[in-house]
Amino acid sequence: MADKILVANWKMNLLEPQAYFNAFTAALGQSSLSGVKIGFAAPYTLLATARACAPAAYAVYAQNVHERESGAFTGEISWPLLEPLAISGSLLGHSERRQFFHETHDQVAQKLALTLQRGHCGIVCIGETLAQREAGETFSVLTAQLTPLLPILTSTGACILAYEPVWAIGTGLSATPTQAQEVHAWIQSFLETHGIRRNAIPLLYGGSANSANLEALLQQPDIDGALVGGASLQPVEFAKMATIAAAFRK
Ligand code: PEP
Repeated sequence: MADKILVANWKMNLLEPQAYFNAFTAALGQSSLSGVKIGFAAPYTLLATARACAPAAYAVYAQNVHERESGAFTGEISWPLLEPLAISGSLLGHSERRQFFHETHDQVAQKLALTLQRGHCGIVCIGETLAQREAGETFSVLTAQLTPLLPILTSTGACILAYEPVWAIGTGLSATPTQAQEVHAWIQSFLETHGIRRNAIPLLYGGSANSANLEALLQQPDIDGALVGGASLQPVEFAKMATIAAAFRK
C-alpha cells in the first residue's frame, strides 16, 4: 500500500511557523509518521520560514503560482521567484482561486505544465459547487476541469489531484466517505479511459476533513489522502490527523 498524503492549506492566515511546528512535533510525541507524506501550503511570505522550520521530510508548497515565468503581472508570483525558497511545489486551481480570481480550466492547465517543466509538484484542485451537484452536473464539471489537464498529467509523482467539492470546503459539511469514494472512483476511471493507469495519480479528498472523519475517508479504496484547510490551522488537530493517516501504512 502506498503512503497516504496529508497536505495542510493554511490559506491567508497569519501563523507563526516555528511555534506551529513546535506544537505539531510535541503533539506527535513518539508517533512515527513514516507511513504518511505530510505537506504544508503556506502563504508566500511564510514560505521561507516554514521551509526553515519544518522537518526536512515534510513538503512545503505555495498556494498558487503564475503560469508565466516573468512579465507585467503586477502582484503575481512566478516559479523563478519561488525557486530560491526550495519549496516542493504548489496548489493549483484551488476553488477559491477559480471562484474569486476567475482562474480558468486552461489557465490551471498552463500552471501545471510550467510547474512540471520546472521540476516541481502540482496539486491540482477540482470539484463542483452545490448548485452544480444539485443540477446533476458533478461529472460534467469534473470532465471540463480534467480535460485540459490530460495531456499534461504524469504519473511521475509530480502530479497530485485533489477532489474538493466546493460545498464541503470550510462549511463543516464534509462529503460522506461514500460520496467522496463515488467521485474518486469516477475520476480514476476517467483518467484510465484517457490512458492514465488507474491509481497512477494520487487523489486527495478535501472539504471539512478533520480528525473525526479522516479515518472513514481514508478507508475508501480510491482516497489516497486529504487536503485540509480549517483543521490544519490547529497543530494539535493536524498532528492527530497525521497519526491517523500514518496508521494506514502498517
Ligand atoms: C481547502 O480549502 O482546501 C479545504 C479543504 O478547506 P477545509 O478543510 O477548511 O474545508
